[in-house]
Amino acid sequence: MIWPTHVLASIVLYVLLFKLGLFDSSLFLVVLSFMAAILGSLLPDIDERNSFLGKKSFIVARILGHRQITHSVFILIFLLFSLLFVSGGLRLLLLGFLVGYASHIFLDALTVTGIPFLGTRIHGWIKTSSIGELMIFLVLLVILILLL
Ligand SMILES: [Zn+2]
Repeated sequence: MIWPTHVLASIVLYVLLFKLGLFDSSLFLVVLSFMAAILGSLLPDIDERNSFLGKKSFIVARILGHRQITHSVFILIFLLFSLLFVSGGLRLLLLGFLVGYASHIFLDALTVTGIPFLGTRIHGWIKTSSIGELMIFLVLLVILILLL
């Protein structure tokens, strides 16, 4: 998936969880955790040279293979586990980051390339930048409009 789809998915998930009361806090912390969600939705593709963040950090993109460690489900489990050890504003920021990261991993799992999982790959049928991704983008956009 390309970065606009990832960012939109993180916004949709964040807004949904916000409406459910998960991010009930001060406006300042809500804005920060929202930004953390967007960062979390972009960070996994730091390993891809042509991605939004990969272009800015080409050394990282050269060292890591695309859709390897940064797309691991274990990072999600680590982030989730880390929530147990933080509280207050830091917990909200981490939760926002986790929301963005999780939405990214879920969307990439729907693609043909998929994500690594226990020596194999979880994958779907959608090609990046295809009409299938466009359809997902449009569905996410409709969901966001309905949520607002
Ligand atoms: Zn990715």
